[in-house]
Amino acid sequence: MKFVYRFSRQVTDGKGSMKNVLGGKGAGLAEMCRLGVPVPPGFTISASACIDYLEHGGELSSALKDEVSSNTQWLQNELGKSFSGEGSPLLLSVRSGARVSMPGMMDTILNLGMNDQTVERLAEQSGDRRFAYDSYRRFMQMYGNVVLDMDQADFERRLEEAREAEGAKVDSGISVEGLKKLIDSYKSLTLEETGQPFPFDPYEQLWRAIRAVFDSWNNPRAKFYRKIHNINDSWGTAVTVQSMVFGNMGETSGTGVCFSRNPATGEPGPYGEFLTNAQGEDVVAGIRTPHPIVNPDDPESMAARAPGLYAQLVETLDKLERHFRDMQDTEFTFEDGKLFLLQTRAGKRTSKAGLRIAVDLCREGLVNEREALLKIDPDSMSQLLASEFDVAAKARILEEGALLGKGLNAGPGAATGKIALSADRAVALQAAGEPAVLVTEETSPEDIEGMHSSVGILTQRGGMTSHAAVVARGMGKPCVVGCSAFTVDRGRRVIRFEDRELSEGDYVSIDGSTGEVILGQIPTMESPLIRELEQGVMEPGSQGEQFHLLMKWIEQTGGMGVRANADAPEDARLARLLGAQGIGLCRTEHMFFGEDRILNVRKMILARDDRSRQEALDRLLPFQRNDFFQLFKAMDGLPVTIRLLDPPLHEFLPHDEEQAAGVAADMGVEASAVLARAHELAESNPMLGHRGCRLGVSFPAIYEMQVRAIVEAAKKARDEGVDVQPEVMVPLISAEKELRAVRASIDPIIAGSGLEIPVGTMIEIPRAALTADEIAASAQFFSFGTNDLTQCGMGLSRDDSGSFLPLYLDRGLFSHDPFKSIDQKGIGKLVEFAVASGRKTTPGLKMGVCGEHGGDPQSIAFFHAAGLDYVSCSPYRVPIALLAAAQASVEQDQHG
Ligand code: PEP
Ligand code: MG
Repeated sequence: MKFVYRFSRQVTDGKGSMKNVLGGKGAGLAEMCRLGVPVPPGFTISASACIDYLEHGGELSSALKDEVSSNTQWLQNELGKSFSGEGSPLLLSVRSGARVSMPGMMDTILNLGMNDQTVERLAEQSGDRRFAYDSYRRFMQMYGNVVLDMDQADFERRLEEAREAEGAKVDSGISVEGLKKLIDSYKSLTLEETGQPFPFDPYEQLWRAIRAVFDSWNNPRAKFYRKIHNINDSWGTAVTVQSMVFGNMGETSGTGVCFSRNPATGEPGPYGEFLTNAQGEDVVAGIRTPHPIVNPDDPESMAARAPGLYAQLVETLDKLERHFRDMQDTEFTFEDGKLFLLQTRAGKRTSKAGLRIAVDLCREGLVNEREALLKIDPDSMSQLLASEFDVAAKARILEEGALLGKGLNAGPGAATGKIALSADRAVALQAAGEPAVLVTEETSPEDIEGMHSSVGILTQRGGMTSHAAVVARGMGKPCVVGCSAFTVDRGRRVIRFEDRELSEGDYVSIDGSTGEVILGQIPTMESPLIRELEQGVMEPGSQGEQFHLLMKWIEQTGGMGVRANADAPEDARLARLLGAQGIGLCRTEHMFFGEDRILNVRKMILARDDRSRQEALDRLLPFQRNDFFQLFKAMDGLPVTIRLLDPPLHEFLPHDEEQAAGVAADMGVEASAVLARAHELAESNPMLGHRGCRLGVSFPAIYEMQVRAIVEAAKKARDEGVDVQPEVMVPLISAEKELRAVRASIDPIIAGSGLEIPVGTMIEIPRAALTADEIAASAQFFSFGTNDLTQCGMGLSRDDSGSFLPLYLDRGLFSHDPFKSIDQKGIGKLVEFAVASGRKTTPGLKMGVCGEHGGDPQSIAFFHAAGLDYVSCSPYRVPIALLAAAQASVEQDQHG
C-alpha cells in the first residue's frame, strides 16, 4: 500500500482530485506542480496512514518509516541538500491537511531539521547568521509547543526578555548573540519542563513531528470543529512534508496570504496581506500587523514595494483561478526575491462575496450557470439576510460620542452584546441566554467554542487573515480585528480605551462591515438585501440584482418546489419576496394567541356543552376568516396550505388565577370552576394527547368553523380578483378512518361552496407512514411533518431532548441533532416507505415536507432523492432551501 506521494517540478505522483488521499493542501500542491506554478518540492503522507497510525496505538509502522526515509532521500537529491548529513542543510515544514479545510485546527511545524550544526551550515549558506539563528529559535519554539506540548507563553516570556535586554522593539531587532542566549535558555527550559533534552537528531524530529500531526486530528479543538462542521471523524489528516523556503531571510524575503478576489465583498482582483522578513506564522498569529498586497494609498503595499513580485503573484493567481474555476486562497513566500506558492484552495467567503463571485465567474465565462450555482453554500444564504444596526439609532449614539475606536472590518454584520474577555465567559453568557461579544487580544484555535457562542468577535491585534478573521467569517459572525484603540487588563477584567474603561459584562456593539466599535447597545435591523427586495429596485451590480439572477438559475434547474411555513401575512409577504412558491404550512393555532381571541379559544376548549362551544366558535370565525383572507391576498396566485387546529391543549389552558378569572367572567361562572375544568383537561403527555385530528373527531364543530372561515375568505378574495388556491390539511392522522371521519364533517362545507379545495393530510405519526397506502385513498396530498415523525419515531421529546441531546452528540451516539437534519437511516426510511406506498395507491400523489427539516440542505438533498415535490420552511430559510433543492437536482443530473 502506497502512503507517500511526491511533488516537484519533475515528479508529481498526486493530483488535485486526490483530496481524500492527500488532503486539501497536498492535493493543491500536487496540482500546482503539474501546472508549473513555483512550489518548493516535498511529499505528502496519505490520510489513510493517519488512520492506520491511530488504529495501531499511535506507532508509526516500519513500512511508513521506510517510505518516508526513501522519499526524504529523494528530496535531498532533488535539491542537492542534506537532511541529516553534511553540506547545505535541508530544512522541512511539516503540516497537517484534511480533505476539507479546518483552518488553524491542527498543527504545523516549520524549520524542522535544525540543531547546533545545521544552524551554522545555514548561516554559512545564506550568509546571514541572524536569519539562521532566528529560524532556529522559531523552530524550537514551535516544536516545543506542538510536539513537546510545552507552554507557548514560557517561550514568549523568554523572547520578550531577550528583546528587552537589547532594547529591541521587534523580534528582528535581537542580535545573533542575543538569539544564541535565547536558544540556550530554550534548551534548559525544555529540560526543566519535559525532563528530557530537546531532540536534535533530524530524523527523530521528523518522526515525532509526523506523530504530532497525526495526533492533532484528535485534539479537542479539531474534534469540536469537526462536530460543528459535520466532518467525519474517520477521514484522518494527511501530512505534507515540504522543503523550506525562507520568508525571514531579510527585507527581500517575506510571506503572505492572498485571495484571488476579495473574500468579504467578492470584488475581483488580488486581496491579501504580507510581511517582509517573516515566516507564515507571523501573519496568521496576528502578532505583527501586515501590509496590504495592493492599495493605491499605501506605499508599503506589495504592489508599491515589489512591483515585479506583485505582477508575478497576480499572474499566478489568475492561472490558478482559471484552472480551478473558483476564487483561490493562497499562501506564498518569497525568498530573496523569488516567489513560491505554499498552498492554494477554494477560498472561504462571506455570503455576499459568495453570491457576487458566482455571478462574476459565470459572466466571465469560467463556469456555466449550473456550475456557478453549485459554488454557493446554501447555509451561507442566511447571512445575506442577516441584520444590521438601525441606522438612525447608530447615528444618534455615535453623535453622543459613543465611538470607542475602529479596527478592520473582518466579518460583516452587526452585533450587540455583553463583553466577554474569555471564551469560557462567552460560553457561560450564552448558556445564560445573554448575547456575548468576545473581546480579546487575539484569538487562537482554543477559543473556537467561545467564538461559536458569541454574537460577535473583537480583537486588539491581527489582520484580515488572522485566526479571528478567518474563523469568524466561516461562522458568519460579525467580527472586527486589529483594533489597537484598546488594551485588555486581565487582572481587573476591564478593557481600556483612551479615555474610558469598560468592564466585562458591559454592553458593546461592533459593526463588522465598517470596523466600528461602539459603546452600548444598538438595535439591529434587517439586511440591505431584504430592504432592496422590498423596495423592488435592483441597481445593476447590486445584491438584489445578483439575487434575482441566482433565482433565475435556480428556476431553470427544475428542482423541488419550496414553500414557506407562515401564518401571518407579513411573514407570507417576506417569504414570497424571498422566492417561496406558496405556503406549505399555516399553523392555525398560532392565529389563536392574539389578545382579542385567546379568551374565546379558552372558552371553546373549556366548554362543557356544545352550545357554549359553538358560541365561542362563532365569535372566532370572523377573526379566522380575516386571517385567511389576508393570507390569500398576500399569496395571490400561489397555493396556501392551511392546517386545521393542532394544539397540544395545555398551550391554551389558563395557567393562573388571573387568566382563569378573565374566562370565568365572560362565561358567567366562578374562577374556581374554570380552574377545576382546566385541571380536568390537563394531560400527562400533551404531545401524545388530545391534539390534532383527535380534536376534530371529538369536536367536529371546531374544524367545521375553520373550514367555513377558509371557504368564506376564499370567496371574498376571489370576488376581489385574487387568484386563491387554498388547501386544507389535517394533522396527526394515524389511521385512514380518522381522516375519513374528519372529512365527513368538512367535505360537505367545501362541496357546498363550489370551490375546488383539495384536502390532504400530514404524515407525522409512524403508523401513518406505515399505512400510507390506505391513507392515500382518502388524501389529495401528503405533507410530512418530520418534527413529530422524528419525535414519535425516535421516541424523543421535542421539548425535553435538550437536556441529554448535547451529551449524545458529544459522545457520538447521534451524529447530528435529528430535529435539525433528518435521521436518514431511520426516520428517512419511514418517509421513503410512505412515498412509495402512497404513490402505489395514487400515482403522482403530491407530497411535501413541512417539518423544520424542510430548511436543512442535507435533508433537502435526501427529500429530493426520495421523490418529494416540495419542501416548506421558515421564510428566512426559503433561499437556502431553494438553492439546496436546485443543487440536489443539478448533482443528480451530473451523477445520475
Ligand atoms: C411537524 O410535526 O413536523 C409539523 C410541521 O407540525 P408541528 O411542528 O406544528 O407539530
Ligand atoms: Mg406536527
